[in-house]
Amino acid sequence: MTTILLLASLTTLGYSLCYLAVCAASPWGRCRHCRGARYHRTTIGTRRDCPRCDGTGIQVRLGRRLIDHIRTEYRDGHR
Ligand SMILES: [Zn+2]
Repeated sequence: MTTILLLASLTTLGYSLCYLAVCAASPWGRCRHCRGARYHRTTIGTRRDCPRCDGTGIQVRLGRRLIDHIRTEYRDGHR
């Protein structure tokens, strides 16, 4: 039983580390709001630039924002 729990936590940790590595290497991801289409349709059917990504279709990944936050906190704490 303990082995299964250990294996599960190690797998989760491994996935998290891989995700953070991807975020560090390539901070931009496809916008989740418009799925990279750069616009969204309003209720009356007209196109509007996506407000989340300002019509670029890309967004800073959540993990990258987390890394930047930790980095800023670390830097501010070591002055
Ligand atoms: Zn968007």
